[in-house]
Amino acid sequence: MKLAGRISQVKPSLTLAIAAKAKAMKADGIDVCSFSAGEPDFDTPAHIKAAAAKALDEGKTKYGPAAGEPKLREAIAHKLKSNNGLDYQAENVIVTNGGKHSLFNLMLALIEPGDEVIIPAPYWLSYPEMVTLAGGKAVIVPTDASTGYKITPERLRQVITPKTKLFILNSPSNPTGMVYSPEAIKAIAQVIVDADILVVSDEIYEKILYDGATHVSIGSLGSEIFQRTIISNGFAKAYSMTGWRVGYLAGPADLIKATISIQSHSTSNVCTFAQYGAIAALESSQDCVEEMRQAFAKRRQVMLARLNAISGLSCAKPDGAFYMFPDISQTGLKSMDFCNALLEEHQVAVIPGIAFAADNNIRLSYATDMATIEKGLDRLEKFVQSRL
Ligand SMILES: *Cc1c(COP(=O)(O)O)cnc(C)c1O
Repeated sequence: MKLAGRISQVKPSLTLAIAAKAKAMKADGIDVCSFSAGEPDFDTPAHIKAAAAKALDEGKTKYGPAAGEPKLREAIAHKLKSNNGLDYQAENVIVTNGGKHSLFNLMLALIEPGDEVIIPAPYWLSYPEMVTLAGGKAVIVPTDASTGYKITPERLRQVITPKTKLFILNSPSNPTGMVYSPEAIKAIAQVIVDADILVVSDEIYEKILYDGATHVSIGSLGSEIFQRTIISNGFAKAYSMTGWRVGYLAGPADLIKATISIQSHSTSNVCTFAQYGAIAALESSQDCVEEMRQAFAKRRQVMLARLNAISGLSCAKPDGAFYMFPDISQTGLKSMDFCNALLEEHQVAVIPGIAFAADNNIRLSYATDMATIEKGLDRLEKFVQSRL
């Protein structure tokens, strides 16, 4: 069958391939330690599930507005104002099928053939694929440990061209766990305003921060940057609601209107009763978010200490999300070979950095229990020693 040309430019997800292999080994009864998860390992908090169950009982089972339940759009606008200092109304918000879908809607509404979108690497692997599917050009800007895997304002200024439409900012970052400082965010905002381009801030990990790191939403730094900012966020990571598929995009009303129009012809509204769970997530106590964060914080300390005690690996300290991104270059292995050998010889699943355009690194998720972390790190240490 002759498929559409756009398909030949999209790569299948490497993350999913390794995770699937690990799962198949587990199903065969093999004792696999998996650090491949891109999602919290906790159940969704009970009060959120109860709110969705109540909505289901009450018959909230019909089509709703494509843009989302009015009450949820309002709750999100309120959250963005009170938590992030962003002055949005409900009309500035669309509820989407997850943060991934919000970014996809954005690319379809904004990007035309010839438009350039600047993406610092290591990046979340869906960004460039979404830009390509929308017909745009992903401009990948490599970064390394010397700048904490972050793009500097100077570098951003250098790579902007007359064709640049959008910059993608992801802090805290998947896969590196790095967090841009408030000063860095301010300097990046200035570059964006000066060049008169747009920025989308993917803030899905904003609540998962450690050691006093703070999250500054770039659009909160003044009216000039606010007008050029689009926010992508969702419930998946902060509330352990990955399977619920509820996210949102917020930005200038005309842009949001365009994404509503796209959504009305593609997915229509997000699952109606799931949206009632999301309302409860925002309107109830935020203690559940902090409890999960504290559990991540403990695991982070253990994993970071263990990783840096392995000679042959070095790992920068991540201030957010639930990932470690150690450098494996001393082993002489490329990331895919490293991951395949580690899984086959020691039954440990990690994600190769090549998936995020960083072939000298691997990604370990610590969204797993402490016993797995201890056992898996023992095995990883043996593997690295065997390769030095
Ligand atoms: C998980 C994730 C998302 C969104 O996930 P959804 O499940 O679609 O809400 C967005 N960006 C990054 C960087 C992520 O890791």
